Amino acid sequence: MNYKIKKNTIIFLFFLTLFFFSGCSKYFDYNQNGNVRVSYKPKEIDSFCGNNIKEFGESCSNCPEDVRCLENETCCYGRCEKINCYVDSDCEDEKAFSINYCFSKGTCDSKCYFNYSEEFIDEIVVIYEEEEKRYFSYDEGYFDFKEVNFLSDFYKEHEDIYDFLIVAPQKEKLSSSYHYKVNSLVENIGFPIYNDSNYKFLKSLNFLSFYNSYKANLNNKNKNRYSELILSIVFHEVGHQWCCYLEGLGNFEYALPGHWTNNLDLFSGNEKNIDIMSTNQWIKKDDEMICNDINFVSRGFSNLTMYLAGFISKDEVGPLYLHRFQSYNNSSRDTWGPSCYDDVNFTKTEIITIEDIIQKNGERIPSYKTSQKDFYFKYVIVVPYGDTLNTDFLEYINIYLTQTPQLWSEYTNNKSTARIR
Ligand SMILES: [Zn+2]
Repeated sequence: MNYKIKKNTIIFLFFLTLFFFSGCSKYFDYNQNGNVRVSYKPKEIDSFCGNNIKEFGESCSNCPEDVRCLENETCCYGRCEKINCYVDSDCEDEKAFSINYCFSKGTCDSKCYFNYSEEFIDEIVVIYEEEEKRYFSYDEGYFDFKEVNFLSDFYKEHEDIYDFLIVAPQKEKLSSSYHYKVNSLVENIGFPIYNDSNYKFLKSLNFLSFYNSYKANLNNKNKNRYSELILSIVFHEVGHQWCCYLEGLGNFEYALPGHWTNNLDLFSGNEKNIDIMSTNQWIKKDDEMICNDINFVSRGFSNLTMYLAGFISKDEVGPLYLHRFQSYNNSSRDTWGPSCYDDVNFTKTEIITIEDIIQKNGERIPSYKTSQKDFYFKYVIVVPYGDTLNTDFLEYINIYLTQTPQLWSEYTNNKSTARIR
C-alpha cells in the first residue's frame, strides 16, 4: 500500500516538473466589461492568439480575435451558435392573441415563451389600469396609489386566498415602499385590531416602488446578492404586519412606530446579524461599541420580531440591550438613535427582558402555538393606463418571486413558510 502511494507521488512529481519546464505563456484578454483577464495555456501547443488563424485550443471565448462567429451567431460557452431571441418580436408566432416573450434576451440562455402568462409566470398577476378606473393619482410631482379601489377591483377577479399581496407598479418616481394593513387580529403587539370584513384572508397590501432601479439590478452580475437585498425590502414591508410598535423600549415609547431603533441590540451582542426591521444597530462587544451596518451582515427577523409575528414562544426571546446615549438636540436622531456614521456618546446600557415587554404590552394573542405560520404571497404588477407591459420588468419581478419561499424560510429561521400561488 505504502509503495503504491509513493509510486503515484513520484509519477505526479514527474509530470509537475514537466509542466513547469514546458513553460507557460501568459496572455490577456478582455471580458465584456473591459476587465483584463489573465489566462495561462501550455506553450508546447504552438498557437498564438491574435494571428487571425484558428489554432488548436482556441475558441470564440478564449480567443475571439482568431475565432470569429458569423454575424448572426453568438459565442456561447466556447461555441458559435445562433441564439434563440434578442427581442420579444423574434418570438412572434402569428397567433393573434398570444403574447410572445423573449426570456433572457440576447444571451446564450435566451428562450421564447408563447403566451407566457400560462407557461412562464402564471404566478404573477398583471393588472392594467383602465381609463375609467385609475389607481394612480398625480399631484405636484407625487404619485399616489389608491389601495381601496385597487383591492376591490382585484378581488372581483381573484379569490380571497392570499395573505400578502406584493404590488409592484410599473411606474417610475413613486414614493417609497410601504405596508398597507387590511386585517390584523392579533392583540397586544402595540397596535389595535384591524378587521376589514371585505376580506377574510388578506392581511396587507405591500407596495414596492421597484421600477426606478430595476434595469441596473437586472443586469447586475451578482443577481443573488441583489435579489436578497430586494427581497429584504419585500420582507421588511410584510414584517410591518407585526412589527414594531411596542412600548417599553426607550425612545420607542411614544414616538417611533414601525421600526427598531439603532440603539437597540436585538441579538445580544452578536455582530453578524441584523433585524430587517432595523436600519443600523449598535452592539457592545468587548466593552466597545460597534455599529452593524445593514450592508455587511446577514439579515433576518430577530427573536423579538419572530415572537411578535407568532413564530416562536416568549421563552426563546433572549435579553435585549438598550444603549442610552447623549442627546443630539435633534429630534430625528434622538428618536432613531445614532446611525453608524454618527459620533456618539453612549451613557449606559439597560437590559430588557421579554417579561418587561409583556408587562407593558401584554402577551401576544393568539400565542405562538395557535398562530398562523404558513402564508400565501401573491405578486401583482400594475401597469398604468396608456403603458404596455414591460416584459423585462416582469422577468425582474419573477426573480424575486422564485426566491421568495427559500429566503423567507431563511429569514424566519424555518419557523414560517411563504408559498406562492
Ligand atoms: Zn418600514
